[in-house]
Amino acid sequence: MTASVRTLQRVPQTRNWTCPHQPRCPGALAPDRTAAWPVARRAEQGWSLLCNGVVLFDDGGQLLPGGRAISPAATCPAESRS
Ligand SMILES: [Zn+2]
Repeated sequence: MTASVRTLQRVPQTRNWTCPHQPRCPGALAPDRTAAWPVARRAEQGWSLLCNGVVLFDDGGQLLPGGRAISPAATCPAESRS
């Protein structure tokens, strides 16, 4: 539990974030933010921390660095069923 808290405290903030990757990862507010490199993965809990500070959940939900949550329905296109 403590390790998870420490990990989240090191989440880069949008304003001071500097990506070490080349090419650079998209920012947390960019439309393609989920293309950023994962820097931490908790498969048993179903989430990954991306380089830009976005927490990406296995169901497609996202938690942005400022605390804004994006539901899976907003990130996944509706499936058409016939
Ligand atoms: Zn990066």
